[in-house]
Amino acid sequence: MIDGYTRTCGLLGNPVEHTLSPAIHNFLASRTQTNLVYVPFHVPEGLVQDAVRGAYALNLLGVNVTVPYKSEVIPFLKELDPLAERIGAVNTLVRTEGGFKGYNTDMPGLYRAMCSDQVPIAGEKILILGAGGVARAVAILMAEKKAGKIYVLNRTLERAKQVADEVNAFYGEVVFPMMLSDYGKLPSDERYLAIQATSVGMYPNVEDVIIGDEAFYQRIHTGYDLIFNPAETRFMKLVKEQGGKAYNGAKMLLYQGIIAYEYWTGKTISEELAEQTYHEMGI
Ligand code: NAP
Repeated sequence: MIDGYTRTCGLLGNPVEHTLSPAIHNFLASRTQTNLVYVPFHVPEGLVQDAVRGAYALNLLGVNVTVPYKSEVIPFLKELDPLAERIGAVNTLVRTEGGFKGYNTDMPGLYRAMCSDQVPIAGEKILILGAGGVARAVAILMAEKKAGKIYVLNRTLERAKQVADEVNAFYGEVVFPMMLSDYGKLPSDERYLAIQATSVGMYPNVEDVIIGDEAFYQRIHTGYDLIFNPAETRFMKLVKEQGGKAYNGAKMLLYQGIIAYEYWTGKTISEELAEQTYHEMGI
């Protein structure tokens, strides 16, 4: 029941209409007996500073931040978590004395999803497809978790080089940039964990795939597509057809939400409740 004590959390973004976050957080609130509601807030272009200030003034407990504001929001925070600073993107704001503190729970979310799916990272040869904001964060996660070698393949080589330079400056020579079309030049005696971090194949363009060549997929032992709509992308189908295991981005979304909820409420979400929440998402 909403009453005078109800706390509000929400999502700042543009667009926000198709978000699954209210389903995650309102379910968690009801199952943890927390008097909290979570609502989407559509923030028009140019108004993100006003939105952050307004959220604080209205006593919001915390907010998530999504596209296109994950980096834009940073100057308006009181404090920034070191991991979020390294990634250069924030998706969770936590209320503190005098302002919000920014965190990135997307990458810890992906890590928890990979742990839950029993996909190891340490020592693995990794392919990251794409070199956008998320791919860059994935490269940091893989380096942090001691991947053996990380290849970043992108349509625009310059962006892959930029990711490699930034990550290598911090972690040493672990990231190798490549042109996407040069995938045939990858060392052929290796099998890879591939993380698909582009928007190619996302609904409604479900027949699109970043690499269509079946031979490429013979080298993939595990494919992780960060897309969750559709639940099985063409990339995932191609991985499975060549005998690999494939996962979508739904668990990453789930766990980034769970970690944010834990920050806001101080409560710990059990794996059992995480699983129930996953079913509640309906993916
Ligand atoms: P972004 O910054 O826009 O980067 C997009 C990347 O995709 C770039 O590397 C771009 O290559 C590449 N790309 C786009 N269209 C392409 C095409 N037709 N052919 C080849 N490459 C193409 O996006 P982002 O913010 O990093 O997000 C990437 C994806 O991550 C999203 O689409 C979403 O599916 C997923 N995601 C999932 C979650 C989750 O919780 N599961 C959370 C956040 C994001 P160029 O550099 O050459 O343009």
